[in-house]
Amino acid sequence: MSLEDHAEELASSLGVDKQEVKQKLENLDEYGVPIDEAKQTVRRNYGETESAGSEEISTRDIDEISTSDSRVTTTVKVLSVGKRSIQYNGEQHVIFEGEMADETGKISYTSWEDFDLEAGETLELSNVDVREWEGNPELNLGDATNVERVSEDLEVPYPVGGDANLADLEPGDRGVNVEVQVLEVEEKTIDGRDGETEILSGVVGDETGRLPFTDWEPRSDLEVGNSIRIEDVFIREFRGVPSVNVSEFSTVRPLESPVEVAESGTRYPIREAIETGGMFDLELTGNIVAVRDGSGLIERCPECGRVTQSGQCRSHGEVEGEDDLRVKAILDDGTGTVTAVLDDELTASVYGGDLDDAREHARDAMDREVVADKIRKNIVGREFRVRGTLTVDDFGANLEATEFTERSDDPQTRASQLLAEVDA
Ligand SMILES: [Zn+2]
Repeated sequence: MSLEDHAEELASSLGVDKQEVKQKLENLDEYGVPIDEAKQTVRRNYGETESAGSEEISTRDIDEISTSDSRVTTTVKVLSVGKRSIQYNGEQHVIFEGEMADETGKISYTSWEDFDLEAGETLELSNVDVREWEGNPELNLGDATNVERVSEDLEVPYPVGGDANLADLEPGDRGVNVEVQVLEVEEKTIDGRDGETEILSGVVGDETGRLPFTDWEPRSDLEVGNSIRIEDVFIREFRGVPSVNVSEFSTVRPLESPVEVAESGTRYPIREAIETGGMFDLELTGNIVAVRDGSGLIERCPECGRVTQSGQCRSHGEVEGEDDLRVKAILDDGTGTVTAVLDDELTASVYGGDLDDAREHARDAMDREVVADKIRKNIVGREFRVRGTLTVDDFGANLEATEFTERSDDPQTRASQLLAEVDA
């Protein structure tokens, strides 16, 4: 092909003036740039990335795909298929999403067209876009993508179908199936896109843990005590923990045999719990190594509830604070530490008195710190079992406690209990 022919082909595919393109190609040719590279440069010049069917598309294994790839060809097995309706450029779109894998790794995908994807099938995808999603590469199947069903079955080291335990779910997971028991459910009215909408929210559990859920299309099967299989849910973060989202496309069916749910929150080593990035209703056990400042008899801003320091709220300036009880205690199990946050009731129980007692105590001593000091004396150096919800963010790992009990199998406690019995 002559340079003239190349210019003509390129100009027509870009929809621009041929003479202009020819001029650019000639310039590059003078610098000794090979014709293929020169054509790419001119394409980029016109703001176009690699075009469909161009030679820059490379064949890749999953673990070779990076966010610097723009389009690839790859052979994959579909692990999961989720269907979801999203708002995009002001319009409602139905998209398909989940994970795909080969022998080398797995990758999430979004399909903007309905290719009738099914979990378990092996596909050769050509011309599939690579985009960045939460810092990782993601395959984007669109109208330029060619989807070819392959008869050979690709072996992959991952489970196919999207079935998952609650403890393994992370925000961002899609096309997931769970088998759970409904533990709590509440009807709510929210202001949705189309005015007021009824939704259900509550808690589901399985053998591995408990998570909050939202059902955006209230279903009668989501009733307390029911054991159900929910297919095609997606996971979002809700107040720092993963939340199960049941959508209009999810299917719910009752299960014959009941799903077992651990009676108390699942027990985890602290480091492992922190690594999950946040968990709902779990149990941690460790020693209280310190009670932090801002514990005991504290004052809160009447407007926003934040704890005030020297009568100052971070948002509202100088305010007339309201008394409250709180403990922020550092729990350590040898693998890591979290700050256990105790509300007024749990604080009263570890302090051994209510808010009025604490006020009187502080007045008599003319020092509010005496309340925190007494709490320190009562809990530091002892072993506790703490149940609650763990959130992890830039400020650290906090466990909002719902139960805070001293370990009865703690040798020291057992000894003092024995002595108490002897005394009686
Ligand atoms: Zn405030």
